[in-house]
Amino acid sequence: MEEACGVFGIYAPGVEVASLVFDGIFALQHRGQESAGIAVSDNVSITVVKDLGLVTRVFDKNTLQSLSGCIGLGHVRYSTAGKKDWMSAQPAYRSAGEVGFALGHNGNLTNVEELASLANMLPGVFTSDSDIVAELISQRINFLQSQQVPDTKDSFESNDTTCVPEENDKNNLLLAALFDILPRTQGAFSFGLIDANQLIAIRDPNGFRPLCLGKLPSGNNSPTSYAIASESPALDIVGADFIREIQPGEVLVIDEAGLRSYFPFPKEQIKPSLCLFEFVYFARPDAVLCGSEVHATRLRMGMHLAMQAPADADLVIGVPDSGVPAAEGFAMQSGIPYGQGLVKNRYIGRTFITPNQKARTDAVRRKLNPLKENVKGKRLVVVDDSIVRGTTIRQIVSILRDVGATEVHLRVSSPPFKWPCFYGIDTPSREELLAAKYTEEEMMDILDVDSISYLSLESLFAAVNVGRNGFCDACLTGNYPTKIPVTL
Ligand code: AMP
Repeated sequence: MEEACGVFGIYAPGVEVASLVFDGIFALQHRGQESAGIAVSDNVSITVVKDLGLVTRVFDKNTLQSLSGCIGLGHVRYSTAGKKDWMSAQPAYRSAGEVGFALGHNGNLTNVEELASLANMLPGVFTSDSDIVAELISQRINFLQSQQVPDTKDSFESNDTTCVPEENDKNNLLLAALFDILPRTQGAFSFGLIDANQLIAIRDPNGFRPLCLGKLPSGNNSPTSYAIASESPALDIVGADFIREIQPGEVLVIDEAGLRSYFPFPKEQIKPSLCLFEFVYFARPDAVLCGSEVHATRLRMGMHLAMQAPADADLVIGVPDSGVPAAEGFAMQSGIPYGQGLVKNRYIGRTFITPNQKARTDAVRRKLNPLKENVKGKRLVVVDDSIVRGTTIRQIVSILRDVGATEVHLRVSSPPFKWPCFYGIDTPSREELLAAKYTEEEMMDILDVDSISYLSLESLFAAVNVGRNGFCDACLTGNYPTKIPVTL
């Protein structure tokens, strides 16, 4: 199981943006560690640098200096579809006649084969779902340019919406191509795009993955600068003020004339379904989602968990890092002291990345070491945000028992993870999902714990605190908000 990607874009006339894009994607590194890339436009042409590896490995001072321009797009990738090679690193760049553009994608498309055949791309030719979209856009731009007078009207009117381009966009070929392609694109996509003169932000009609807009402070006579980011901390880091989230189904154009917003998808497709797991695990704790800071939401998850499933214990510990805020909430609510039981080696990568079970198990041991004096002789409440295959928690319980924990009460700050995700998280098959296969009693045995409790879906919604509507909880309930590509 791997996680979604990160996208960051900036439009800042008169400013060299490469280092700001670097800061933006560095702040989003937790969303993808496989490859990193930056595209920059100097209002004439676009330069792209991308490679496999972490942001700090791909970019140094010299590479950033080679990227000159005031419009930028950055991407960190964790592949959920497609190959894990250089070609699949993003932003994807295409040159279509007069128009060069770069695209960065967070999410996962669910009608890849249909789109590939629309693009006349044979199986094996395309590297990823994002690559197919870039190809389709470029084909459409080429088609529009092949007309004596590019007739963008057709594209703008080819969908069921009354999406009329504003005066400034009458000859916007990239936008016209997008209006044609986007309504055919299904699944999860938060896209950032740049061409020579504009930055475009797009969220799919379900808004599965987050994307937000910020504004940079500008001098007296300088034009307004904007940034877009998968998560708000990337805006904070470049000094941009959060303005709002991009709406599900919105296409936002940012250029010298300012901001223009379009909704090119058929109305019945607009069905807000933000991934609940962004709150549980993916997003940084300092990210603001649906108006609240994720850390506070996670504290509330822990508090609800303590109300729902109390335990008689001496110490509450969290599994670093993502289990910690919920553990704090559990302790606050229950009155049981909170303490640190495990130390994480912060220089180690993600244990999910490792290829097989033995390697994953060893990786947990290398990553987490117990604080023996804190744990010895104690009845522990151990809080983690989720159990997927059970690899992490099984190892942790054995580590804690080895150093003398007398009881282990496992509390999970999300409901059982039972269904695969098709919207940007590469989940193991259903057979590998522990909660899909075993009852709680069996799991107590497998994990060697004295009790186990999950946060209920109701309590999770209560912790998120913005009502029940507008979220995707498919991995927890099996209720997929769109058609999925397989039968389960
Ligand atoms: P597992 O070890 O397979 O049970 O996975 C659960 C652990 O991985 C928990 O400690 C989570 O914090 C973490 N986790 C949950 N979702 C993801 C994800 N999509 N990518 C990486 N780690 C995750």
